Amino acid sequence: MTVGIVVVAAGAGTRLGAAEPKAFVPVAGKPLLWYAMRSALRATALPCASSSGTNSLSTELISVAAVVVVVPASHTDQAAELVEPLSREFAVPVQVVPGGVERGDSVLIGLRWLPDGCAVVLIHDAARAFAPPALFARVAAAVDVTTPAVVPGLPVVDTVKIVDAAGRVTATPDRSALRIVQTPQGFRRDMLERAHAEAGSSATDDATLVERLGAPVRVVEGELTAYKITTPEDLEFAARLAAQSG
Ligand code: C5P
Repeated sequence: MTVGIVVVAAGAGTRLGAAEPKAFVPVAGKPLLWYAMRSALRATALPCASSSGTNSLSTELISVAAVVVVVPASHTDQAAELVEPLSREFAVPVQVVPGGVERGDSVLIGLRWLPDGCAVVLIHDAARAFAPPALFARVAAAVDVTTPAVVPGLPVVDTVKIVDAAGRVTATPDRSALRIVQTPQGFRRDMLERAHAEAGSSATDDATLVERLGAPVRVVEGELTAYKITTPEDLEFAARLAAQSG
């Protein structure tokens, strides 16, 4: 299965309080973007084993045909220098492009730069720098004709309340039906392009746009290490993962 990957890294990451954009904050000597890119590229040649283990394509391997990295315009040169050795090591072309105002704009820019021939695309937040390569393969493997959109998700362990502007609880959803959703998210490329064209770009993830078209979105098992690095405390866990990741 040939996939194209868009890594969005053009956010400022103000909640982290760092001097540079979040994707360029160093952990154990390397920017977060480097870890995100390495995981994405390591997915190449992994088997398309689905989370249920029943996927009929399970003998097929993932082939990452191209990666587009979307970064702040101020950091394109730095990003190009950072990804060049990874691109060479994995023999996968990597294109660095400047991003947009909102996350959705950055995704759209990245999609436009992906070469033809990537029928399946994975959209990944650089802020989830330690999502393991196997997660990319799991998500990609689950995308097919009847399942045009796939997201990794984890069960919710806390009780969740819906509140109004005054802080009054208006509902308590059944937590067994809730999932915390991560990236990489996988799509049939034609479906994602249609979703961005017809369903607007204001959403916190890409699957939301596909849902707005009424198309099916499936959840596969997520990973704790695919958490979004957001606060300074998250960087401590990141440093431990960096030490383990080799
Ligand atoms: O802001 P948020 O936490 O939703 O960002 C998720 C991901 O989207 C991050 O990796 C961030 O760099 C990226 N992003 C982007 N362009 C923007 C805003 C966010 O690529 N304009």
